[in-house]
Amino acid sequence: MNIKLSGIRGIFKLLNYKGICILCLQRSNSTRDLCQPCESDLPYLHPMQVACQCCGAALAIDTLGANRNAPQLRCGECLKNPPHFEQTIALMEYQHPIDAMIQALKLRHDFHFLNVLCSLLGHYLMEHYQHNPSPDALIAVPLHHSKLATRGFNQSQMMARRLSRHLTIPALDKVCLRQHSGPRQSELSAQQRKRNLVDAFKLTPQGIKSLALYPYVAIIDDVMTTGSTANELAKVLREGGVRRVDVICFARTELAE
Ligand SMILES: [Zn+2]
Ligand SMILES: [Zn+2]
Repeated sequence: MNIKLSGIRGIFKLLNYKGICILCLQRSNSTRDLCQPCESDLPYLHPMQVACQCCGAALAIDTLGANRNAPQLRCGECLKNPPHFEQTIALMEYQHPIDAMIQALKLRHDFHFLNVLCSLLGHYLMEHYQHNPSPDALIAVPLHHSKLATRGFNQSQMMARRLSRHLTIPALDKVCLRQHSGPRQSELSAQQRKRNLVDAFKLTPQGIKSLALYPYVAIIDDVMTTGSTANELAKVLREGGVRRVDVICFARTELAE
């Protein structure tokens, strides 16, 4: 795959032309701006990979043996400290080129990447929900207002709106506020992340009212790392009366028991 992520925004502006693969810049010959070879090369989570139903951590073979008869396959950490969410749906591993695509989206506002990733994830979710119960609503992980002002957009909110159109499931706005910004989660250790998130989220009066109508919701985030952020938000949503919370993300970092 000949990936040319740097400067791609300028090239797209020059070309102003759809139908070009966002990764190799050849004609995509596809309904999305991604050619078939580049699409096949993406780091999808392997369908045969056995993962924790809850957090998505890869499970070792001996763990699989020990849990084979369990009603739900869960990793040791999720058995010991059950998260407030029920299930994680991630499409890919957070590695090249997904990491570069998401960074380009956040730092250079390359929405082509967001559109292509939402198209792939939306297609995957449509198939998934043909055989599984689907959530009543989607809720993006909120950004603190200072970060929103700096970046100009919340990528998770944009993702939720696009997935909402694919799935015809409402994306709820302004359900929850992020109360403090603090250091970036990506710069912290797992323990620091948990401390940084204490009381991070608060339901709005509008959120408290609307959650009563949606007993099953999915949190939308671009990348899941330790799951601490999703867990803290899920806790607040559960306290608001939601009975089941799932997490949907483009990619998760490599988690293994
Ligand atoms: Zn390509
Ligand atoms: Zn787990």
